[in-house]
Amino acid sequence: MSVRELIFPRACAGCRAPGHVLCPQCREHLRQPPYLVSRPRLLRAPVFALGSYSDIRRNIIISMKEQGNREVRDYIGAVVAAGVAHLAARG
Ligand SMILES: [Zn+2]
Repeated sequence: MSVRELIFPRACAGCRAPGHVLCPQCREHLRQPPYLVSRPRLLRAPVFALGSYSDIRRNIIISMKEQGNREVRDYIGAVVAAGVAHLAARG
Protein backbone atom coordinates (compact mmCIF):
# COMPACT_ATOMS: atom_id res chain seq x y z
CA MET A 1 0.00 0.00 0.00
CA SER A 2 1.37 3.38 -1.00
CA VAL A 3 1.40 6.52 1.15
CA ARG A 4 -1.14 8.02 -1.23
CA GLU A 5 -3.52 5.11 -0.55
CA LEU A 6 -3.14 5.65 3.20
CA ILE A 7 -4.28 9.24 2.78
CA PHE A 8 -6.77 8.62 -0.02
CA PRO A 9 -8.04 5.03 0.28
CA ARG A 10 -8.65 3.40 -3.08
CA ALA A 11 -12.26 2.69 -4.04
CA CYS A 12 -13.73 0.81 -6.96
CA ALA A 13 -14.56 3.17 -9.83
CA GLY A 14 -17.79 1.30 -10.49
CA CYS A 15 -19.32 0.72 -7.05
CA ARG A 16 -17.02 2.52 -4.58
CA ALA A 17 -16.15 -0.72 -2.75
CA PRO A 18 -12.93 -0.13 -0.82
CA GLY A 19 -9.57 -1.52 -1.88
CA HIS A 20 -9.90 -1.93 -5.65
CA VAL A 21 -9.34 0.11 -8.78
CA LEU A 22 -12.16 -1.96 -10.22
CA CYS A 23 -13.59 -4.72 -8.02
CA PRO A 24 -14.19 -8.27 -9.30
CA GLN A 25 -17.96 -7.74 -9.45
CA CYS A 26 -17.61 -4.63 -11.60
CA ARG A 27 -15.02 -6.33 -13.84
CA GLU A 28 -17.50 -9.17 -14.32
CA HIS A 29 -20.23 -6.61 -15.10
CA LEU A 30 -18.09 -5.30 -17.97
CA ARG A 31 -17.59 -8.78 -19.47
CA GLN A 32 -20.04 -8.73 -22.32
CA PRO A 33 -19.52 -9.27 -26.04
CA PRO A 34 -20.37 -6.33 -28.29
CA TYR A 35 -23.88 -6.29 -29.67
CA LEU A 36 -25.47 -4.50 -32.59
CA VAL A 37 -27.31 -1.34 -31.54
CA SER A 38 -28.42 0.06 -34.86
CA ARG A 39 -27.60 0.37 -38.49
CA PRO A 40 -28.13 4.05 -39.30
CA ARG A 41 -28.71 4.83 -42.96
CA LEU A 42 -26.53 7.93 -42.96
CA LEU A 43 -23.45 6.18 -41.64
CA ARG A 44 -24.06 2.97 -43.57
CA ALA A 45 -22.13 1.21 -40.86
CA PRO A 46 -23.33 -0.87 -37.96
CA VAL A 47 -23.06 0.60 -34.47
CA PHE A 48 -22.11 -1.71 -31.62
CA ALA A 49 -22.22 -1.29 -27.84
CA LEU A 50 -20.07 -2.98 -25.24
CA GLY A 51 -22.90 -3.07 -22.73
CA SER A 52 -26.11 -1.42 -21.73
CA TYR A 53 -26.27 1.72 -19.64
CA SER A 54 -25.87 0.97 -15.95
CA ASP A 55 -24.86 2.75 -12.77
CA ILE A 56 -21.56 0.87 -12.79
CA ARG A 57 -20.69 2.02 -16.31
CA ARG A 58 -21.85 5.54 -15.52
CA ASN A 59 -19.70 5.68 -12.39
CA ILE A 60 -16.64 4.39 -14.25
CA ILE A 61 -17.01 6.97 -17.03
CA ILE A 62 -17.47 9.80 -14.53
CA SER A 63 -14.47 8.52 -12.58
CA MET A 64 -12.31 8.68 -15.72
CA LYS A 65 -13.65 11.88 -17.26
CA GLU A 66 -14.45 14.07 -14.31
CA GLN A 67 -12.34 12.73 -11.45
CA GLY A 68 -9.17 11.95 -13.40
CA ASN A 69 -9.03 8.28 -12.43
CA ARG A 70 -6.19 7.12 -14.67
CA GLU A 71 -5.77 3.72 -13.05
CA VAL A 72 -9.14 2.44 -14.26
CA ARG A 73 -8.27 3.34 -17.86
CA ASP A 74 -6.17 0.20 -18.19
CA TYR A 75 -9.21 -1.92 -17.39
CA ILE A 76 -11.49 0.00 -19.74
CA GLY A 77 -8.86 -0.06 -22.47
CA ALA A 78 -8.72 -3.84 -22.14
CA VAL A 79 -12.53 -4.05 -22.39
CA VAL A 80 -12.56 -1.93 -25.56
CA ALA A 81 -9.65 -3.88 -27.07
CA ALA A 82 -11.40 -7.18 -26.36
CA GLY A 83 -14.60 -5.85 -27.94
CA VAL A 84 -12.77 -4.75 -31.08
CA ALA A 85 -10.92 -8.08 -31.28
CA HIS A 86 -14.24 -9.90 -30.89
CA LEU A 87 -15.76 -7.94 -33.78
CA ALA A 88 -12.65 -8.28 -35.96
CA ALA A 89 -12.61 -12.03 -35.47
CA ARG A 90 -16.18 -12.16 -36.78
CA GLY A 91 -15.46 -9.97 -39.76
ZN1 LIG B 1 -17.05 -2.38 -7.97
